[in-house]
Amino acid sequence: MPESFIQKSLIVSLHDAHPGSHAQIAEQVAFLAGYGITRCSILVVPEFHHRGSVLQDKDFCATVSGWQAQGHELVLHGYFHDRQESPPEKLSTVFWTRLYTNREAEFLDLPLATARLRLERGRALFESQGWRTSGFVAPAWLMAEGLPNLLAEMGFTYTTRLGEIIPFLPGENRLKASTSLCYSTRAGWRRVASGIWNKHLYGRLRETDLIRLSLHPRDLEFPLMRRQIDQIVRASLKRGFQPTTYGDYVAR
Ligand SMILES: [Zn+2]
Repeated sequence: MPESFIQKSLIVSLHDAHPGSHAQIAEQVAFLAGYGITRCSILVVPEFHHRGSVLQDKDFCATVSGWQAQGHELVLHGYFHDRQESPPEKLSTVFWTRLYTNREAEFLDLPLATARLRLERGRALFESQGWRTSGFVAPAWLMAEGLPNLLAEMGFTYTTRLGEIIPFLPGENRLKASTSLCYSTRAGWRRVASGIWNKHLYGRLRETDLIRLSLHPRDLEFPLMRRQIDQIVRASLKRGFQPTTYGDYVAR
């Protein structure tokens, strides 16, 4: 197929939207709109770190509704985004719970019955606000075995991991392998390392038909990272990648 017929997609996802990150996510939405990117997947956490429901912040809810009205996709992103009430940590999970994340891997080892309750609660909260949600992304993309099947059974249309998009639509299995660009801001060395890694990863992704860029609330606060995100976004658009959402990508 000639290259001009291959649809190349750029999916930008904004992680961890909740009242505490309201201003940062709003800035990211505006930053991206400056490049003409007006379709992002925005990952909303219903009760971030057990600090109360998003419903308690009417301004935040109005902003989220506005994002949907503008064409952004809203995605359920965990329920609490922490590990309170999670099973005790085992040696086999400590890397993921303590080093890879800062105790945020809520769905890593959650019993499926508990996972189902949180998913139902999250979905009900979205519905109460008129927020459509067809996708679910677990905090840090970490899921218990069996969670993808549960999501499919509950009618979600997709989930994602760091390295792939998993669609649940009936018919063909179109699991799409593609590693997301993603920054770590927890320490200076992590920011430097993720800059080097993302430069290398972008070099590979630009030769494919899909670029995933995942931003977290603090990513634009660091000049080095802001500069690299600017470069990646500009270069991707110049190469013909079309901004889209996960929901539209799996449904196409
Ligand atoms: Zn998250």
